[in-house]
Amino acid sequence: MPTIVIPPLRRLLQRWGVHPDSHKYPAAGLDIEDAGLPDMLRLPLSQHVGAPAKVIVEVGERVLRGQLIASTGGKISAPLHAPTSGTIVAIDEAVVPHPAALTDVAIHLRPDGLDEWIPLKSELYPINLSEREISDRVEDAGIVGMGGASFPSAVKLSLGHRSKVTTLMLNGSECEPYLSCDDRLMQENAHAIIEGARLILKATGATRVLAGIEDNKPEAILAMKLAAKPFPEVHIVKIPSRYPMGADRQLIKMLTGIEAPADGRAADVGVLVHNVGTAYAVYRALRYGEPLTERVVTVAGGAVSAPRNLRVRLGTPMAYLFERCGGLRVPPARVVSGGPMMGIGVQNLDTPVVKGTSGVLALAAAEVGEREASACIRCGSCVEACPVGLLPLEMAARIHANALGEAEEIGLDDCLTCGACGFICPSRIPLVQYFQHAKGELASRSREQKRLDTIKELTEAKAARIEREAREKAEIHARRKAERERAQAAEAAAKAARAAEKETEA
Ligand code: SF4
Ligand code: SF4
Repeated sequence: MPTIVIPPLRRLLQRWGVHPDSHKYPAAGLDIEDAGLPDMLRLPLSQHVGAPAKVIVEVGERVLRGQLIASTGGKISAPLHAPTSGTIVAIDEAVVPHPAALTDVAIHLRPDGLDEWIPLKSELYPINLSEREISDRVEDAGIVGMGGASFPSAVKLSLGHRSKVTTLMLNGSECEPYLSCDDRLMQENAHAIIEGARLILKATGATRVLAGIEDNKPEAILAMKLAAKPFPEVHIVKIPSRYPMGADRQLIKMLTGIEAPADGRAADVGVLVHNVGTAYAVYRALRYGEPLTERVVTVAGGAVSAPRNLRVRLGTPMAYLFERCGGLRVPPARVVSGGPMMGIGVQNLDTPVVKGTSGVLALAAAEVGEREASACIRCGSCVEACPVGLLPLEMAARIHANALGEAEEIGLDDCLTCGACGFICPSRIPLVQYFQHAKGELASRSREQKRLDTIKELTEAKAARIEREAREKAEIHARRKAERERAQAAEAAAKAARAAEKETEA
């Protein structure tokens, strides 16, 4: 296997990003443990980008682990499977991981403790399956991007084919502080991840795998290199530890030097990015026939008594995971679903683990470190930190002045809302909150504009229809009148002819 290393010049030229304290230990140093089963699992129908899954079970029904309980809801969607055997007790609103603490429809499943699987279709050599079969089984297994993006994986595979990608990029960077689920997964299941990557490679028609792993995970790099050794098409590349290295565009730029367009997809530059957890799920689905019913989650933060990585059934409430980690030693100042930089703040500990949940954090007051913001000192640190070369201070100033259009003109759309600028800001200006607010506001304005455009279109179409119908009516009326007049004229002429005939005979 030829070794690929990042050229020193590329490392030097790419100086974006920040270096937050990693806080990865002690969880990163401990084996993954099974979280067991809580009393109740709540499975939201929207655990992925796209249309919600459609419920196909009824309240009172007994289901088995792996049984389909909600089918694909549209072209971009993913099905949902029971994470254990038990009874469906409700199909109702439940709290979900959402920035605005919204609720959503969820299937409530009470486990029966038997954990009985449906019959599974295993495949000794899944690599011999056709591209189509691989893609179909990934779709049937309900696999979505496990790094947090939650984009349906089968849709991404078909994208790869359509766009003729040449490189599959395996994202093992895990740059968010605290999180170590991917690190542990690579250390403990490297073989399965590499096999999963080879299956994705076959399904997309790409020719090589570049797996980028940050240099703060030496054991994972070693394990992945050993597992990849027999496969010359798979390259394990050590990349610098820096936040947000795990963003697709940053990873592509670091590994290949290629700049992916901000408004395009990675596939547009011949690259497809999948998380290592996704590759693992693909392997399990194809080798053992297992639909996605669980994932590895980092449970950590200064308020957690015994942080660790747990194998967790989807739908498990966060409170249960904290209990499994020895409980909370102090009341948390902030609870987060995901990482501390880009994760979602959680108000209710009943919030369930979903397919994209990589971490469940309970941060102590000292870790949150909220301070009053002061005036910008124009130090330029935020500009240096921004991975996409934006001017965060300028964008924030325009948003502050409610000039959202101007903020868009100078790059708001390209902002990843990664939080690197706010993290580095000595004045503690909540820059990313400005950008999240502005993006939300612009999205709702765009939705409103679309609604108004639709109403306008419908109104115009209705007016045009009324006008057309009136015109058609008038034309029919005119035609009938002309026909009537023609008939009357003909009758008058015939009458006159008959009268003339009579006169001649007389
Ligand atoms: S880092 Fe903060 S203080 Fe420095 S220029 Fe940016 S916004 Fe201003
Ligand atoms: S939040 Fe946006 S502006 Fe700030 S560093 Fe990240 S990409 Fe740049």
